[in-house]
Amino acid sequence: MALGSLLTELSPDGEGRRPLIELVGRWAAEKPDAPAFTFVDYSTDPAGEHVTLSWAETDRRARATAAALRRIAAPGERAALLLPQRHEYMMTMLGAMYARVIAVPLFSPDLPGYAERLIGAYTDSEPAVIVTTRASQPHVEKFLADQDVTPPREILYADEIDLDLAGAWSGEPIDPDEVAYLQYTSGSTRRPAGVQITHANVAANARQLWAGWAPDHPRPELVSWLPLFHDMGLIAAMALPMVKGDHVVYTDPVAFLMNPMRWLELISGREWVYTAGPNFAYEYVASLADPDKLEDLDLSGLVTCLNGAEPIRPSTLETFHRAFEGAGLRRSAQAPGYGLAEATVFVCAAADAAPPKIVTVERDRLAAGQVVVAPAGAERTTSLVACGRPVGQYVAIVDPDTRVERPDGRVGEIWVHGPNVAPGYWRNSERSQETFGGTLRDPGDLPEGPWLRTGDYGVVHEGELYVTGRIKDLIIVDGRNHYPQDIELTVQEAHPAIRPDHVAAFAVDGEETERLVVIAERNRRVPLRQLDLDEVAAAVRGAVNIEHEMALHEFVLVEPGVVSRTTSGKVARAATRQRYLEGALQTTAERLAAQG
Ligand code: ATP
Ligand code: MG
Repeated sequence: MALGSLLTELSPDGEGRRPLIELVGRWAAEKPDAPAFTFVDYSTDPAGEHVTLSWAETDRRARATAAALRRIAAPGERAALLLPQRHEYMMTMLGAMYARVIAVPLFSPDLPGYAERLIGAYTDSEPAVIVTTRASQPHVEKFLADQDVTPPREILYADEIDLDLAGAWSGEPIDPDEVAYLQYTSGSTRRPAGVQITHANVAANARQLWAGWAPDHPRPELVSWLPLFHDMGLIAAMALPMVKGDHVVYTDPVAFLMNPMRWLELISGREWVYTAGPNFAYEYVASLADPDKLEDLDLSGLVTCLNGAEPIRPSTLETFHRAFEGAGLRRSAQAPGYGLAEATVFVCAAADAAPPKIVTVERDRLAAGQVVVAPAGAERTTSLVACGRPVGQYVAIVDPDTRVERPDGRVGEIWVHGPNVAPGYWRNSERSQETFGGTLRDPGDLPEGPWLRTGDYGVVHEGELYVTGRIKDLIIVDGRNHYPQDIELTVQEAHPAIRPDHVAAFAVDGEETERLVVIAERNRRVPLRQLDLDEVAAAVRGAVNIEHEMALHEFVLVEPGVVSRTTSGKVARAATRQRYLEGALQTTAERLAAQG
């Protein structure tokens, strides 16, 4: 049965569609001195310098930015954000919303390793203006000189905007269906696509999330280090506080990666706080927890930590809980969730005050499309994490070929319908129609369309959504389906020389059936000279054979960093596969041979 319902306030004539940016002016008038955004800067002070903007100051800066943008660009033209994550970034997002200039949240070109994402999004969105900071100017100039891209009409320096311009910006009405920004997808399976997010989409998604969380506190706070150029980071840090004029404390991803404990330190001691992150971040911070230092940490006010954006490991939920229960972390705080850029971001989350729900099912039956709960102690199982149910939108599990809804317990494509679903991709009507134009056959009480076809497989079990994997990544060998993440887990557990979470399993064409290929990074902790490649390969082949009853066509151990990842840290299987087919992967065998 489909999950969810619509909220009347988000219906076409409801107040909930009102552009969130209009609320900034309201908070500035009603609670001018209340804190809105606190940026914690670890580059100026290793202990973190807190710089807070009140709602009045936020509104002033956003209006000044709007006025400055509109001197350069007309409504509907694009402004590419090529600046580091700090207040200027956030204020540019808000200013662009006021100005009705379409923001393209990207990053300063000196962020290493993601030139392709930047060039792709920049070229695709054809910005009229680049917004950056004086400190990033050399990087932007180098980007424009080195890359074959069209320069913008002008470059705007966000840290030099004359704040007196705010008075010149009286504002103008915004149609909720106008595009507010282009959200480029992570690029896990393809070149990132620009999703057109309207003002109504942002408003709806922020309200849906709050409605699900139902904060029982007058002044809830949000803490985030997530990149603002990704969907989850942007909605968590920018849109959520606007709904009710709450306070966000944020830093930048580099500050987190350098010292992940900063995340929890920013949460510590607050009364009622929400945060979000992908699975790997919870795994990472838990791996560095020091039991002797827990007494300085008070996580009892952490109400919800959303875990989303990539497959959620049951073991991570357990590890994170164990690592920090001594600091007051509630088990119920962990909230597994599911979302995607095409739906603004959030689709559903298990945000109720209960511990995450995990079900262990028979792996082969699941791969064949059915949830069968495994008896205790059974072998060849997969554990799935419940992602809750949606609020203010619908989720249906659909047979992608017949377009008929599937019954509970049967795997199908996850389809989403609601006011948070974007109207389409930027300038790609064919692909938009394919992805956003789903229609249900025999819809019953559900809307016939348009439905977003997510490209993800999932299943409804006991009233909650479980995500099982991406359709495109499914490996089909000898007529049997396999989810790559199951194989990757088997591989990383097969030998200590394999670096956990840096494994990619995919299929290549064979004569009669697809064939399985696995690329795994070498674990740096295992010194090269102690490595016996044949032994590693034999362990991996044996494990795959026993666990999945399948022959591994090729296993390649590669050097650390070789498996492709997205800017959000997800394994990019298709890109890794492409480089494998081109023979472009740096293998450990080559490295050993070079050393003699
Ligand atoms: P691209 O669309 O460019 O290939 P992407 O799909 O990774 O990249 P995003 O929109 O940022 O880009 O990520 C959404 C996707 O992340 C979902 O479609 C799904 O595949 C995956 N995902 C999100 N939450 C979960 C979850 N809880 N469990 C499993 N997968 C998830
Ligand atoms: Mg996607």
